[in-house]
Amino acid sequence: MTWPSDSGLTLLTCPECGNMASIEWESPVDEVLLLKLRCVERHWFLMPAEGITYYGTDIPYRGADPGDDATAAKTDHPPPREA
Ligand SMILES: [Zn+2]
Repeated sequence: MTWPSDSGLTLLTCPECGNMASIEWESPVDEVLLLKLRCVERHWFLMPAEGITYYGTDIPYRGADPGDDATAAKTDHPPPREA
């Protein structure tokens, strides 16, 4: 499986402050997708993608190429937190 190196401007939710965060780097390691995120408040994280959602949604981020429907991904993991 290949992952595009150019993630564009995919916006994710900062796990700390909930602001929008962009992906600076991502790579699958041992079946876990690792992300480096940087948010608008200059928080940054190097962490598994699991639990990270698209900004403004409850849709889990599953890599630059979702491959399947977000609704399918939604059944896999519980929401990371209460809104
Ligand atoms: Zn933040």
